[in-house]
Amino acid sequence: MTRPRLLVLSLGGTITMTASAAGGIAPTLGAAELVAAVPGLGEVAEIEARSPLRLPSPSLTLDHVVTVAAEIRMGFGAGFDGAIVIQGTDTIEETAFALDLLVPGERPVVVVGAMRGPQQAGADGPGNLLAAALVAAAPAARGLGALAVLNDTIHAARFVRKAHTALTSAFVSDNGGPLGLVAEGRPRFFARPAPVDLPALHLVPGDMPPVALIKMAMGDDGRLLRAVPELGYAGVVIEGMGAGHVPAPLADLVGEVALTLPVALASRTLAGPVFERTYGYAGSEIDLIGRGALPAGLLSGPKARVLLALALKAGWDRAAIRAALAAYG
Ligand code: ASP
Repeated sequence: MTRPRLLVLSLGGTITMTASAAGGIAPTLGAAELVAAVPGLGEVAEIEARSPLRLPSPSLTLDHVVTVAAEIRMGFGAGFDGAIVIQGTDTIEETAFALDLLVPGERPVVVVGAMRGPQQAGADGPGNLLAAALVAAAPAARGLGALAVLNDTIHAARFVRKAHTALTSAFVSDNGGPLGLVAEGRPRFFARPAPVDLPALHLVPGDMPPVALIKMAMGDDGRLLRAVPELGYAGVVIEGMGAGHVPAPLADLVGEVALTLPVALASRTLAGPVFERTYGYAGSEIDLIGRGALPAGLLSGPKARVLLALALKAGWDRAAIRAALAAYG
C-alpha cells in the first residue's frame, strides 16, 4: 500500500534542543534528525523533512508563520497529503491558529513540540512526533483545520493553549475540550469544530502590522492603552476582566482608541465567550461594544491578536474584521 506523503518542517523548540556550551539547552537538531529518531515513523508515512528555522519559539514571528504557511500551501499543491510543523511549545497556540487561517483546504496541518529535550529522561518529542504523523496521515483528520498534537491528545487550533510550564500534559483545549486522542497507533476523534468560513488569507511575509495585547487588571489607569495609538500600533486586543470588562474610568479611552484603530475585546478568563448583551454599566461589554470595541468571541487574547494582525495585513476593513472575530463567538 502506498503511504501518505507528509511534509515535515522544523522551526526549533525544546524538541530540537541539546546541551549548549553557554549552559542550558538550545535549538540544534533539524527535522531529519528528529524524524530518524522515531521508531516506526517510516511505516506511517513517506516523509520529506525540512528545517527552515532553528529558533526557540518565543522568537518566532507571524512573518515566519506566513512563510511556513506558503511552503505548506506549495507542498499541498505538489501533492503532499498532510504537513507537520515542529516547534517550541511556548507559542504553539499562536502558530497553530495562524496556520488555521493561512492554509485553506482539507489536508491536515499538525503542529507539534515537546516539553522535554531529547537528552532528558522521558523525552516526549519522539512519541509526540509519531502521534502527530499518525494524525496528519489520517483521513479522519481532513477538514478539521490546523491541529496541535501533544501528549497523545489532539487539539483544535482555535482552542489549544499551553497551560503549564513543565508537565508533558501542559496543553489544554479551552471551551470544547480536545478533539480526540491517539491510542494503539490510531487517532480517534470524538468532536469536530464547527467550520468557520473566512475569506482566504494568501499573504506574503513582511510588514506585519503591529498589534498590541493589553491585559486588564484591578485599578488599571489606562496609561498603557492610551499610549497604543501614538506608539504606532495598527490595532489592539484588550483582555478584559470577566466577560469583557474594563474599569469604568477607561471606558471613554476605549472609545477614543477605537476611533483610530481596531480594538478587539477578549477575556482574561481564557474560557467562555466575550459577552455582547448582558452588562450595562460603564466599562461593561455593552458599553465598550457601543464605543466601537469588537468582541472576539471564544478567542483568547493571543489568538485574537493573530487574527487581527493577519486581517490588517490583508487589508480587511473594520466590518470584515468584526465579522471574522464574530465567527468565533
Ligand atoms: N521555550 C521552549 C520553546 O518554546 C519551550 C518548548 O519548546 O517546550 O521554544
